Amino acid sequence: MRPMKLLCLLLVVLLLGGCGQQPQEKQLFAMDTVMTLTVWGEASALTDLQQLLQEADSRLSVTNPNSLVSRLNRGETVTPEEHIYALLENAAQLGEETEGRLDLCLYPVTRLWGFTTGTYRIPTQEELHKALSCTGNHRLILENGTVRLEAGAQLDLGAVAKGWAGAQCIKLLEEEYQEVTAAILHLGGNIQTYGTKPGKDPWRIGIQSPTGDGLAGVLELSGTWAVVTSGGYERYFEENGKRYCHIIDPATGFPVENDLLSVTIVSKEGLQADGLSTALYVMGLEEAAEFWKQHRDFEAVFLTAEGAAYVTPGLRSALTLIQGETVVLEG
Ligand code: AMP
Ligand code: MG
Repeated sequence: MRPMKLLCLLLVVLLLGGCGQQPQEKQLFAMDTVMTLTVWGEASALTDLQQLLQEADSRLSVTNPNSLVSRLNRGETVTPEEHIYALLENAAQLGEETEGRLDLCLYPVTRLWGFTTGTYRIPTQEELHKALSCTGNHRLILENGTVRLEAGAQLDLGAVAKGWAGAQCIKLLEEEYQEVTAAILHLGGNIQTYGTKPGKDPWRIGIQSPTGDGLAGVLELSGTWAVVTSGGYERYFEENGKRYCHIIDPATGFPVENDLLSVTIVSKEGLQADGLSTALYVMGLEEAAEFWKQHRDFEAVFLTAEGAAYVTPGLRSALTLIQGETVVLEG
């Protein structure tokens, strides 16, 4: 073999063996949570993914006074970039489909409880009554590319932003990083998988136990999925022995208290997975199961207070439960 040809062959072997098989990892803090990004195939994608997530944070954060959300909350009319407009449109549609269980304009209420600032307290009935009079998805007004809020309304995208950002990351990998063959993005309670790991092992995704340390179960999935869990155990405060969690029932303004401890949604769509994990947690098991029956374009695991895991038939063989009994929802 000619020396030049040999050198080329050696380079190809080195490239394939060297960077193709070893995952590269990056940790960052964005959207109020620690994120861990892992990619196979092209490490430079990590820098772009980080930038995407930090930009999403600076546009969507409700506590950053310069964000698009804060500008809307100050009463401005804004003309966002197309992908942000699409996010708002799609999130508003999820709000409608869930009959307001996902309420994008709930900030006057969540702010009272202190969940965005960390200064927790129980609001008075009078405060809640007043705050509830400015909530509801209809107060977000989207018209020909412009966005505004009705007077007094305030937007909080905390229930959908991470799922949407995960989907944006996948779009970036698909469009600009063909060399990336697989990735797994841990964005707080949101997990986004992409492609297939070398060796073709499925992704193994733990579902956290809502009642203690460790896992309640593990999902084995192949390919690209958003896996998003919502549960009261993720953020709460206690007063006089009672627990108040960060997911609020828009009908009452009170933290959710029902038969569910967590909801995990598995979907091809990150925004849908995130929005529904919150909304179905608000619904409680019976209504959430009925919602799944009516829609069927996602899969779910519902962990209940009595220790059971209700699972949609599509996840029956993907889920290995560590604690409790499994009940497969009827198709
Ligand atoms: P998640 O962790 O995705 O379930 O989202 C919870 C976050 O969304 C909370 O920390 C609040 O900022 C906000 N939130 C709480 N309850 C609701 C609700 N019913 N609809 C929309 N956003 C909510
Ligand atoms: Mg959510």
